[in-house]
Amino acid sequence: MSKKNQNKTYSFFSCIEKNFDKAARFLSIEKGILEQIKACNAVYRMHFPVKIGKKIKVIEAYRVQHSHHKLPCKGGIRYSTKVNQDEIMTLAALMTYKCAIVDVPFGGAKGGIKMDPQTLSVENIEKITRRYTSELIKKNFIGPGIDVPAPDYGTGEREMSWIFDTFLSLRPVEVDALACVTGKPISQGGVRGRKEATGLGVFYGIRELCRLKEDMFSVGLDVGLVGKRVIIQGLGNVGYHAATFFHEAGAIIIALAEREGAIYNKKGLNVSDVIFHLKNTGSILNFPGAKNIDNTEKALELECDILIPAALENVIHKNNANCIQAKIIGEAANGPITPEADEILEKRGVIVVPDIYLNAGGVTVSYFEWLKNLSHVRYGRMEKRFSENMNAELLQVIETICRKKILKEEKKMILRGAREIDLVRSGLEDTMISGFHKIRELKKSTGIKNMRTAAFVFAIKKIIDSYEKLGIFP
Ligand code: NAD
Repeated sequence: MSKKNQNKTYSFFSCIEKNFDKAARFLSIEKGILEQIKACNAVYRMHFPVKIGKKIKVIEAYRVQHSHHKLPCKGGIRYSTKVNQDEIMTLAALMTYKCAIVDVPFGGAKGGIKMDPQTLSVENIEKITRRYTSELIKKNFIGPGIDVPAPDYGTGEREMSWIFDTFLSLRPVEVDALACVTGKPISQGGVRGRKEATGLGVFYGIRELCRLKEDMFSVGLDVGLVGKRVIIQGLGNVGYHAATFFHEAGAIIIALAEREGAIYNKKGLNVSDVIFHLKNTGSILNFPGAKNIDNTEKALELECDILIPAALENVIHKNNANCIQAKIIGEAANGPITPEADEILEKRGVIVVPDIYLNAGGVTVSYFEWLKNLSHVRYGRMEKRFSENMNAELLQVIETICRKKILKEEKKMILRGAREIDLVRSGLEDTMISGFHKIRELKKSTGIKNMRTAAFVFAIKKIIDSYEKLGIFP
């Protein structure tokens, strides 16, 4: 972020309120109802002591439940030195709208611990995570039907497994304990496909947009992903997986940006080779054949077709929005574009695919994991053999009628019943594609100019439907 922008006291929550208010103008809904949807239902700010080395450190942490219109609440936990109440409230609110868009039955929530995991030992991160979980348990802020955390910036499977273990040790008779957190390792009740879900969802969403002639024509691009020049900021969970799927689909990853700088090669970067280089050298810089860009922010301004910010919020602001050359921006991160920048980009005709839709793949697959944990059965267990037997019978009939044997390799492919990963990916793909078209249709039918406003209108309508079903508003 530029110095000018850093000095500004920015309320992230007010950015979301602005987006919400812009959308609300397209709906005739009583002000009080809109106020209720916007407000955070519960904010838990905590401080607890942890012994780090020989010193006691007081840790600041949060869990915010934005909306109780559906329970449990759902949302990730982030570890970062930038964590503050405003940020966590905003991210919790985004979760509410996100869940409504992809039709998963949760209210939005978010958690955060103010710390830098990169400067702490694994033992200390574990200590802090477990203490944070017990604080949540004490205040009834976690549980399969109450509030279900998941990974976010700075956290992953490892942290989720500590959360689950702490929950189970303090709630030993809870039969559905596995469903108290998602994003767990497979060995601890996780679902196959969760780790890459957000990045894959980002890919499915952008792929769908790129399939549409009308939309591609509006920004002067050809249909399809093959050959499109892509820049990705942040090579963490979301950015890495998104980069891999784009690369596999034939897009050209021309630049990758990390904290320490960015790398550029107009002929394309092989993502797995970059990761290998990162693991060996501790940095993406000096990757063979690529040019270093020391000021990592400048990578956002390079000429490309698709820009995917997948690191942090407010990275595209009014000071750099006019320098962005991408035709499409896919918000993989939460809130990467400020409202001022959004307006600039809209005027310039850039297509922005908003976070409240595009990065909802994680919560979608978290929903599948939660259902798996509650049902105590792995996906595919009931139907895999049945489908295989049915397919075998069908093939036999076809072979008899055609008097022709199907090749062994082809047979193997056709016979295979759906595994957990197949079902999860198919559910995710369907969710992302149908979510995209619902927002697009609403945008077209109402004449709303940008996809973010249309997505907010769609989400608000869905939330009001739920309130009406509960009979909360007269
Ligand atoms: P992560 O911690 O796995 O990765 C973040 C990456 O960004 C890291 O590699 C980090 O080094 C890099 N980074 C930090 N500052 C940077 C900078 N200034 N420039 C370039 N790179 C920088 O986090 P994640 O889970 O991938 O989350 C990334 C974003 O996606 C966040 O906004 C998060 O809220 C959002 N998100 C994540 C999920 C999920 O399932 N993990 C779901 C929805 C949204």
